[in-house]
Amino acid sequence: MGANLQKESGPREVFCGLTSIVWLHRRMPDAFFLVVGSRTCAHLIQSAAGVMIFAEPRFGTAILSERDLAGLADAHDELDRVAKELLQRRPEIRTLFLVGSCPSEVIKLDLARAAERLNDELHGRVRVVNYSGSGIETTFTDGEDGALTALGPLLPSTDERQLLLVGTLADAVEDRLIHLFTRLGIQTVRSLPPRQSTELPPVGPGTTVLLTQPFLSNTARMLRDRGARVLSAPFPLGAEGSRRWMETACRDFNLPADRVAEVLDPLERRAHQALAPHRQILQGKRIVLLPESQLELSLARFLQRECGMELVEVGTPYLNRELMAEELALLPEGTTVMEGQHVDRQLDRVRDSHPDLVVCGMGLANPLEAEGITTKWSIELVFSPIHGIDQAGDLAELFSRPLRRRQRIEPALHPTTLHPTVHA
Ligand code: SF4
Repeated sequence: MGANLQKESGPREVFCGLTSIVWLHRRMPDAFFLVVGSRTCAHLIQSAAGVMIFAEPRFGTAILSERDLAGLADAHDELDRVAKELLQRRPEIRTLFLVGSCPSEVIKLDLARAAERLNDELHGRVRVVNYSGSGIETTFTDGEDGALTALGPLLPSTDERQLLLVGTLADAVEDRLIHLFTRLGIQTVRSLPPRQSTELPPVGPGTTVLLTQPFLSNTARMLRDRGARVLSAPFPLGAEGSRRWMETACRDFNLPADRVAEVLDPLERRAHQALAPHRQILQGKRIVLLPESQLELSLARFLQRECGMELVEVGTPYLNRELMAEELALLPEGTTVMEGQHVDRQLDRVRDSHPDLVVCGMGLANPLEAEGITTKWSIELVFSPIHGIDQAGDLAELFSRPLRRRQRIEPALHPTTLHPTVHA
């Protein structure tokens, strides 16, 4: 393995796992996410979800008051009351996620027991599950891993031969991938999470799992425990990664290689055409990816191999070497992969190496831009449809756009004194 794996700890600049509610609630419109936390948690979700809070929201926060924190009130009674009121007001809710936070964990509020109790009382009308999205335990996309793992016990059992795509995808991307797998010869393709929380896919010994996202370590373990086989493949970002990912499933289903090539070759040719204009801008440019979503390794592999970028440092909040083995093997010899973060030291290294592009969170993006360093907001990568061979051009565009914008505004930022603007 060629990458240079390093670890760092210290101050971090990342989201907590609660943020994943923003895309999970859109995926399952019949589910509700009730955070059991503080006003800080409520503010976080509201800021991250932006205008969505004004539409009929499918998430909210049961705010722990001083009385709860001091142990003066029975927090369990309070929680039951809030949950029941909510379910009365919103009879369309089918699955209620009780989401743990830092405060609920610190006071050791037992949400698993609360979920059990509510399940008993609701007699299956609504299913209540729990997971933690706290900043102490989880970083950003980990929240999805927790939510999917929590659904594990509810998945029915099956021996049926099927392909299970695991991880939230944009609906259009999911439709396209299922269509392609069907054309390749895999007839039964299901997804976790499903589009309706009540339509959970079954799982069992005939199930082959393809992870669509790299941050699903616990979900993968849960599915293995249920008898499924979890394939090891690069993740479906970029034309090459997506093709290898699909081919891995095809091999597992013993599909003929010439059929696979017949379906995928034209897609790959089209993707290369779509990539070409972006490659022109990205080729030879130096990039740093700061840790945030665990997508960083797959993105770095795509940007280096398909767009010709040079990797200065690839950060990731957490590195599961087993799930990422294929990605690590595709990185150039000696690539610095930094697990964890000491944000001040990392920023010093960014300034010293002065890369052409830094992928980072919103908290760092504008300050770095003001220092003359071009940035790309990493959060956009979690909300955009970036998976699959067809999306390779769009994915590259997300990185070429800030560089193109910088080229355009550069003259205004540094006007040359040789050609002063002449005002009439
Ligand atoms: S869960 Fe923790 S890190 Fe996340 S918003 Fe609440 S207090 Fe902050």
